[in-house]
Amino acid sequence: MSKRDYYEVLGVDKNATEQEIKKAFRQLAKKYHPDLNPDNKDAEQKFKEVNEAYEVLSDPDKKARYDRFGHEGVSGQAGGFSQGFEGFGGFGDIFEDIFDMFGGGFSSSTRRNAPRKGSDIKYRLDIEFEEAVFGVDKEIEFKRTENCSKCSGTGAEPGTSKIKCPKCNGSGEVKYAQSTPFGQFVRVGTCDRCNGQGEIIDKPCSKCSGSGKERKARKINIKIPAGVDTGSVIPLRGEGEAGEKGGSHGDLYIYINVKPHEIFTREGNDIYCEVPISFVQAALGGEIEIPSLEEKIKHIIPEGTQTDTVLKFKGKGIPNVRGYGRGDQYVKVVVQVPTKLTDKQREILKQFAVESGEKVYEHKKGFFDKVKDAFSG
Ligand SMILES: [Zn+2]
Ligand SMILES: [Zn+2]
Repeated sequence: MSKRDYYEVLGVDKNATEQEIKKAFRQLAKKYHPDLNPDNKDAEQKFKEVNEAYEVLSDPDKKARYDRFGHEGVSGQAGGFSQGFEGFGGFGDIFEDIFDMFGGGFSSSTRRNAPRKGSDIKYRLDIEFEEAVFGVDKEIEFKRTENCSKCSGTGAEPGTSKIKCPKCNGSGEVKYAQSTPFGQFVRVGTCDRCNGQGEIIDKPCSKCSGSGKERKARKINIKIPAGVDTGSVIPLRGEGEAGEKGGSHGDLYIYINVKPHEIFTREGNDIYCEVPISFVQAALGGEIEIPSLEEKIKHIIPEGTQTDTVLKFKGKGIPNVRGYGRGDQYVKVVVQVPTKLTDKQREILKQFAVESGEKVYEHKKGFFDKVKDAFSG
């Protein structure tokens, strides 16, 4: 089978410029590209022919010899392409053109190989009510992914190195044709052999089996500031999972959960509690002890203190987590009525009732007057 004239193959005339030859080649290379013509022997043949012609005509030296001696002048020079055909090596510019043609846009291997920051870790920390109020230093232990200590994260057994990926020839990408109702498209995908890295591990690290990572327990000391509450989040930069390809660690987020207190409840920076007093204390008044966050407060209640009276203690609440001011403490006094009486106590109370008549119970009298009114109408 005689070879066609190279100028004829590319459809250019003998005086064509370098630019014209290149342009013609690109158009034909796209037209006959195997990815766009799967299982088309004719196209494959033409593709090889076009490439062979271009290899000669794009090289001033070979072109000169071809012009003088024809195919004989370049035999043994051209045709080397067919050996390298399977790898598609060196034809990136064609693929780029094809992608421009389709309005392409695909993640480049450089971007895939760029360092990536590791994932963040959430950690729930339960602390006591008082610890939230006054702040506390805590040692916490958690597991995170770190670069393998044996291979320093490379995944390769120390002393061995990575080799170029044979599937993608180091590009990290594989190209394949896809049939759609709109025709054939060439798609570029991440090489599954090397995950787009372009190189593979020859001998995997025996410690991490080639992952380059290991799970490790980590202990760190953290400072919980005074005034935190359930839902407070403390970020710790760089304490998260290891990054990819030399990227930095992610962050650790401590989610605070404050355990309930036996007597105090909290609303914002104010605290609330109830203090029981006897009905005698309520009636006579006197000094009672109020629990607060720091110490017991001695407080005088007046004679005739009613149940559910609320006392306010300014500045006895929780410090503001941002460091200014403090909330208040609210105390509700609850009058306790005795459930068991000795004979003597009962006798005294009866005397008290006789002594009082109805007069001491202003509240009670008023209430029954109202009931009477309601039913007599
Ligand atoms: Zn390793
Ligand atoms: Zn690969």
